[in-house]
Amino acid sequence: MRAFVTGITGQDGSYLAERLLAEGVTVHGLVQSLAEAAPFAERYPALVLHEGDLTDPAAVAALIDRTEPDEVYNLAGISSVALSWQRPVLTGQVTGVGAVGVMRACLDLQERLGRPVRMLQASSAEIFGEPAESPQRETTPLRPATPYGAAKAYAHQVAGMLRGRGLPVATVILYNHESPRRPETFVTRKITAAAARIAAGTQDRLALGNLAARRDWGWAPDYVEAMVRAIRHPEPDDYVIATGVSHTVADFVEAAFTAAGVADWRSRVDVDESFVRAGDAAEQRGDATRAREVLGWAPSRDFAGIVAAMVEADAVRG
Ligand code: NAP
Ligand code: GDP
Repeated sequence: MRAFVTGITGQDGSYLAERLLAEGVTVHGLVQSLAEAAPFAERYPALVLHEGDLTDPAAVAALIDRTEPDEVYNLAGISSVALSWQRPVLTGQVTGVGAVGVMRACLDLQERLGRPVRMLQASSAEIFGEPAESPQRETTPLRPATPYGAAKAYAHQVAGMLRGRGLPVATVILYNHESPRRPETFVTRKITAAAARIAAGTQDRLALGNLAARRDWGWAPDYVEAMVRAIRHPEPDDYVIATGVSHTVADFVEAAFTAAGVADWRSRVDVDESFVRAGDAAEQRGDATRAREVLGWAPSRDFAGIVAAMVEADAVRG
């Protein structure tokens, strides 16, 4: 079995690489720069890495054609909503058009080989914008409110269309999922890293945006497991992947600071308007019933377990 993974150096890509290699799959990965990915390549010597950029769909298609994978996971993208406001054009090119380029390459390859080329598209809860219902399901109307959400919605809808034209493409509508591999540009890791530094006396205060936003936070390795189950199901479909439980950003701060042993979190946190975003949904909460019933998928870690694992990793890092 051969897999081709875009976004392999990212949080999910690294967990997916480990998951597939452990199974004995030959894993090809796309990286933007082989030179910059050198430390990553050293960590995973069994990976076959290729240089390429999703903004060059013809080059990515040539790589997919040449490697003849059985499974293609498209995880690459501008994955930060905040960054998508600063780089809306690039977000459209990579997260939207680039994803469709991967789909098209899979369809062409499957026609050439006369066998299925299965694909997994990493979709996002941001396609629902300020959601029309709660919790959200696969049938909730799409009405994105951010450049990132709009780019993901475009790719999500084209995936559905190409599925209708014979491409076995599954999508996972991912709710926020976290791990110690999350960068500090995301709120969870920003909070756990700050909690550890405040506990160690190397940081004094933490500036955040909207403390009232409610998110459905899950554990990244669980979400990667859902991707593998979704791509391998004989009937490709869309799957909401979520825990079904939401918490506020303030809840996350309180839990992280408590886990790190910092008392009175409110006296350490400032609200900085520059971190407050346009189009920020008040709440995202997903209903993963279809994934549970069809894929037998369930999250393994709850909110407290995720916070504890992230704080512990940041305390060790110092
Ligand atoms: P991530 O850590 O930000 O990784 C993104 C990956 O995309 C990186 O490997 C990056 O490579 C690559 N990339 C960026 N621009 C590229 C380009 N122009 N050409 C080729 N590769 C490019 O993301 P993640 O958290 O693992 O998320 C995986 C996927 O799930 C993403 O599509 C994300 O939008 C989606 N998703 C994630 C969440 C979440 O909570 N994590 C929620 C919903 C949806 P470099 O290292 O070279 O920059
Ligand atoms: P994303 O929205 O999926 O890109 O994930 P983030 O972790 O960046 O944001 C999750 C939620 O935390 C959003 O509702 C943000 O508005 C909120 N948030 C509040 N303060 C911050 C902050 O300082 N940084 C980030 N990244 N998000 C924040």
